[in-house]
Amino acid sequence: MKYTKLRKHVCEANLAIVQHGLVTLTWGNVSAVDRKRGVMAIKPSGVPYAELTPAAIVICDLDTGNVQQGSFSPSSDTPTHLHLYRAFPDIGAIVHTHSPSATAWAQLARPLPCYGTTHADHFNGAIPVARPLRADEIEGTYEHAAGVSIVDTFQAEGLNPLDMPAAFLPGHAPFVWGTTLRAAIDNAVALEEVARMALLMGAHRDPAPAPLDPRIVAKHFNRKHGAQAYYGQPATERKESSPHE
Ligand SMILES: [Zn+2]
Repeated sequence: MKYTKLRKHVCEANLAIVQHGLVTLTWGNVSAVDRKRGVMAIKPSGVPYAELTPAAIVICDLDTGNVQQGSFSPSSDTPTHLHLYRAFPDIGAIVHTHSPSATAWAQLARPLPCYGTTHADHFNGAIPVARPLRADEIEGTYEHAAGVSIVDTFQAEGLNPLDMPAAFLPGHAPFVWGTTLRAAIDNAVALEEVARMALLMGAHRDPAPAPLDPRIVAKHFNRKHGAQAYYGQPATERKESSPHE
């Protein structure tokens, strides 16, 4: 079996989102990219998590999307993942779930403002909502168009995917990413929690509460992720040996 490590890490990551309570039934998928080898590893479509093994993980060519290795069909969301990896060259892993609170915000089709430092530790501002899909996109290459809608929104709003590692597909659910599998999972867990906190605040009702002071948002995001980051232990947080750990 080729891509043994990549498959093992992606399998573990798919099981981790279940352990974190982000997944009901099979509503979720995690992928990771190996840019040197030009491949993406992703959960197979419709396989129950209890039956998921490294061998079941599907390896797709990053450029063509064709399956390179694996006996199952890849997740039906594969074209969304592929488009995000191609458009955002610095991301290493993607998590998609229908975790309830984040999905509730996606269904509201409203950006999720930053109300507190928990949010600011992971996301530098409001979580954006991707533009709605056009009729031809819904009827055409729907999953690919979902990725295009996220990338279009990041370009239109001038967002950096490393500063804002998440987006809501309106009426659907979030896509979350990170430079590593661990970072992507952490961001997905954090998004679910901050969405839940916002719902507890009643932030979905009008008038919406005032967001956090942007200076505090910047302070918290940058102390963890900025060029002068000082949160955590030096040389451990940002220098992981493998992009898939
Ligand atoms: Zn979905």
